[in-house]
Amino acid sequence: MARSVTAMFDVIIIGGGPAGLSAALILGRARRRVLVCDAGRPRNEASTRLNGFLTRDPIEPAELLRTAREQLLRYDVEFRPQEVVSARPHGGGFELTLADGSAARCRKLLLATGVRDILPTIPGLAELYGRAVFHCPYCDGWEHRDRCLAAYGRGHAAIGLALSLRTWSGDVLACTDGEPIDARHAALAARNGIRVRPEPVERLEASSGALSRIHFASGPPESCDALFFNTGQYQRSPLAKSLGCKFKPDGGVESTDRQCTSVPGLYVAGDADKDVQFAIVAAAEGATAAVAINRELQDEDRGEQRDKASAHPTTH
Ligand SMILES: Cc1cc2nc3c(=O)[nH]c(=O)nc-3n(C[C@H](O)[C@H](O)[C@H](O)COP(=O)(O)OP(=O)(O)OC[C@H]3O[C@@H](n4cnc5c(N)ncnc54)[C@H](O)[C@@H]3O)c2cc1C
Repeated sequence: MARSVTAMFDVIIIGGGPAGLSAALILGRARRRVLVCDAGRPRNEASTRLNGFLTRDPIEPAELLRTAREQLLRYDVEFRPQEVVSARPHGGGFELTLADGSAARCRKLLLATGVRDILPTIPGLAELYGRAVFHCPYCDGWEHRDRCLAAYGRGHAAIGLALSLRTWSGDVLACTDGEPIDARHAALAARNGIRVRPEPVERLEASSGALSRIHFASGPPESCDALFFNTGQYQRSPLAKSLGCKFKPDGGVESTDRQCTSVPGLYVAGDADKDVQFAIVAAAEGATAAVAINRELQDEDRGEQRDKASAHPTTH
């Protein structure tokens, strides 16, 4: 009976967002055989525009990914729209199982799996997410400058976010959702012209697809144009944990400045390491990881072992 042959790649990249596709581009151009597996759930899938990406300000998020994938067709990069369900060390590299049951092996593995945001469970919020409800003022503050902005978070978290939003508007409301704030934070808010509503938030009201008012458990509703929230995030994929990566206190995968994780041969790029979380930073980290991976492969191809101290060179 014929045995199925497991495909072997120089590098497998899990995640086809800006981080993973950028790494694939550099590795493809370095003549590496690359597989990109992507489950197709980018962090910003609710968003209709990606802002702040140099020369692409703005661009539709899907268009950025489509263009990146098209430009990869020139290289030895295979793209599979598949979730990787498991990964384990194997023969000095890694062996992966995909959702369709197929297996693939590689010498080096890059996790570009991103994160998921925890959305506040407020009726009406999910429908407005990405259009009038956001988490990042840098990404979406400019489009709502000088409008009435609400900062949502539990207690003091709302005040911190509201202070940041003052850069974009003088009309900022902090919603602490039933969590009290101490006198110091109340004074800080007052000093910076921030109004505070401490009552639990009951629901968001939309009008023609835009946010119109925030309703509270008691007291009058507030008119508002956009709401920013600060309620945390978590790793989209459990693979970093199952492969034994170390994590930072904030939940990001621990990595060196060359995107090496604590597991030999395993790299991480993009939001998953919880550095600055912009698409352009994710792409830059992908490129950094690609160079480090290629250096390691070059050394191995020459039969040399890179020692830990020189594994993260400061030049190419
Ligand atoms: C509402 C919103 C608006 C935003 N707006 C902006 C903006 O305007 N400008 C900006 O710079 N940034 C913006 N961001 C942030 C931006 O989306 C992220 O910084 C960027 O997407 C990170 O890229 P990444 O490649 O690390 O992860 P992602 O883009 O999240 O891609 C990760 C990919 O990995 C896949 N994946 C995960 N696990 C597996 C697995 N096991 N197998 C296969 N595939 C897997 C996922 O399905 C996903 O497709 C926004 C984010 C949100 C939530």
